[in-house]
Amino acid sequence: MANLIQAIRGMNDILPSDTRYWQQVENIFREILHGYGYEEIRLPILEKTELFKRTIGEATDIVEKEMYTFLDRNNESLTLRPEGTAGCVRAGIEHGLLYNQIQRLWYQGPYFRYERPQKGRYRQFFQIGAEAFGVATPDIDAELILLSARMLESLGLKPYVSLQLNSLGSTESRAKYREELVKYLTTHQSELDEDSQRRLTTNPLRILDSKNPAMQQLIANAPKLTDYLDQESQDHFTKLQNFLRQAGLEFTVNPCLVRGLDYYTKTVFEWVTTQLGAQGTVCAGGRYDGLVEQLGGKATPALGFAMGLERLILLLQSVETKSQRETVQIYLMTDSDDAFQKGLKLADQLRDAYPTICVLQHCGGGSLKNQFKKADKSGAKFAIIIGEQELAAQTVSVKSLRENVPQVTVAENELIAYFSATEL
Ligand code: ATP
Ligand code: MG
Repeated sequence: MANLIQAIRGMNDILPSDTRYWQQVENIFREILHGYGYEEIRLPILEKTELFKRTIGEATDIVEKEMYTFLDRNNESLTLRPEGTAGCVRAGIEHGLLYNQIQRLWYQGPYFRYERPQKGRYRQFFQIGAEAFGVATPDIDAELILLSARMLESLGLKPYVSLQLNSLGSTESRAKYREELVKYLTTHQSELDEDSQRRLTTNPLRILDSKNPAMQQLIANAPKLTDYLDQESQDHFTKLQNFLRQAGLEFTVNPCLVRGLDYYTKTVFEWVTTQLGAQGTVCAGGRYDGLVEQLGGKATPALGFAMGLERLILLLQSVETKSQRETVQIYLMTDSDDAFQKGLKLADQLRDAYPTICVLQHCGGGSLKNQFKKADKSGAKFAIIIGEQELAAQTVSVKSLRENVPQVTVAENELIAYFSATEL
């Protein structure tokens, strides 16, 4: 036998048993985004490497060690996109979508990072992202965060996630804070772990984001970014918090929330869950008022977020109930060609009447006893049986596969009504 070729580590096949979750999430999100006036933009998976170096920042984890970068046949350096904002901004500038207008965009697709694969962390992963351009005021920060809340709510995940909020201030105020932070950390240099030693000179704010328990005390005592905010950022942050409070959305201000990309300014936020171990952030975003100009466009305020779909789906699966897991509602079995023919008709009538259910009609013959085994294995709630007697009497037999109740006989033309009174 030939050697088996396997998938690349950290790049998952999404199997039929899981695709319904993906479809559910994608369909619901698409509707909600549309409802908020966001329009879809579809972007290439490959971009010039320079785009990510210039936007994400040279001293970030992503650019330092996580990008899939290669030379194409023309010796041009290309990179599989590690995130969505850079490409979206590039396209927005290139096609004149951003200047002097308000633009709400969303996108979805695969992203690539060379990370250590583990639960909730992969080398190819999927995001749905939303970006809003052209509004500098905190009203749109509030709207965007409420949109993300509604998306999580729509999946029933709201009780399992919490919102963390921070402000990174302007580039200038952040630079001032950075100096103070470096001063503080330098006096405690011996307590820094290896990663943080390195970051002290390259990207000291990221030290605040360290998950190393040994570092937590040091981080807790560090100067707070929020104490160094310029007045405008401070006002922006206060207003945003008021909007959210008035909208009834709970949040926690986390002064250590810094995010792993250099382009953020002012608002940053994350939705986190405690149900997924270390990979607890299911959605992350913030404002990036300088980025459009930095990429050669006219200065345009902007903000956005991205949802990590694998983590959302893991969360969905970990909290769903058994009845939600059932994908087949009715298994229809027959024992002759004539009964099969009748079954085709009845199955379609049921699908017309209940468009969201799955009616699985048995194919491949075999005894009814055998078909019952298959029905049970399918997870269906009900079996419909059309045998010789039923066919002659224009009835069907309905048997609950989950409850110990007697089989009932239902007239063919009352079948739809029968299920309207029964929870499918
Ligand atoms: P983390 O801190 O978990 O590494 P991040 O800050 O690198 O996340 P972002 O760049 O903000 O993540 O991406 C937004 C979201 O995309 C994350 O909150 C997460 O849900 C998801 N995500 C990021 N990297 C991965 C990955 N390697 N595998 C699966 N999902 C990911
Ligand atoms: Mg990361």
